[in-house]
Amino acid sequence: MSVLRKDPLSYGWVIYPEKPFVPPQPRQAKEAPDGDEPCPFCPGHEFMTPQEISAYRPPNNSTLAAWTVRTVPNLKAVLHIEGKANRRGEGLYDMMNGIGAHEVIIETPEHDARFFDYNQQKIEEVATMWRERAADLSKDSRFRYIQIFRNYGESAGGHLTHPHSQIIALPVVPRVVREEIVHAHEYWMNKERCILCDMLSQDKKSQRVMYENDYFVVFQPYASRSPFETWIAPREHASSFATDSVDLESFAHALRVTLKAIARALGNPAYNLIVHSAPTEVERLFKTPRVKISDLYHWHLEIVPRIKRIAGFEYGTGIFVNPVRPEDAAKYLREILETQNADESVL
Ligand SMILES: [Zn+2]
Ligand SMILES: [Zn+2]
Ligand SMILES: [Zn+2]
Repeated sequence: MSVLRKDPLSYGWVIYPEKPFVPPQPRQAKEAPDGDEPCPFCPGHEFMTPQEISAYRPPNNSTLAAWTVRTVPNLKAVLHIEGKANRRGEGLYDMMNGIGAHEVIIETPEHDARFFDYNQQKIEEVATMWRERAADLSKDSRFRYIQIFRNYGESAGGHLTHPHSQIIALPVVPRVVREEIVHAHEYWMNKERCILCDMLSQDKKSQRVMYENDYFVVFQPYASRSPFETWIAPREHASSFATDSVDLESFAHALRVTLKAIARALGNPAYNLIVHSAPTEVERLFKTPRVKISDLYHWHLEIVPRIKRIAGFEYGTGIFVNPVRPEDAAKYLREILETQNADESVL
């Protein structure tokens, strides 16, 4: 029989049809065609991007093109940094100005590099830039939420091949994060414990953990919305990816191992990677002054391979149909990981 599962964080229901697990046939995902246009993210083309916001260059080399990671405003930004939110209403309809920030983090000078091939140091460098930019943007009191994300492959919305991630600062708390907070809050009010901490300690004994190290747990959530959806969360409670301390070495290692296993299992699929972290200013969401967001919200990273299209039923109901149970996905990824370990003497 098929089964419906509820995600305790989003309250989203997922349908798992009765279907035996069939190992996926890895297929080569097509990358976005670049055409004949010169790549604006390649070194030497710095003039093609708006004014640089931040960059890492080797010490003693301040040459413009010597960067290793570079952050610039998104040329096609959906929100703009200047101005005031000017929250207003027209009858029952609410609106505000499109203020915010939309930045691109160019992760490497190498046009054809792939994230899962990055070495440990490169991933740490990229994660450091994510954290620095998010921390900087969160100081702006006009912004309520900072979203770090990465779209890879055309079906995930990645239109440029050159490896990059993005960060958007929003004047509102997005619905998805708000729902997670509301449910984490509800749980906290009953138990005075963090729901994700409880999920992690329960799931530790489950078949859904794919990998763990000293500081991070990688698992397929109980109600994964799509095949091979994978979460990475710090073992110890921490609410903000940007401002709480993070063991970058463990984090980068967990991320690398995970993306590599997914790429192997599914043949370099398109995917979205998103970081869910505590909003910058949310105490106002709660009426009870004794509740602190930092106690009840637990940051995590979600990786969603785009191997199944979202269709009318999903859009209409918010209920996903997932042909792969998380236990099967985790088991398969653990097997891939074992061969990965055998291939690389030192991971
Ligand atoms: Zn390039
Ligand atoms: Zn927690
Ligand atoms: Zn989340």
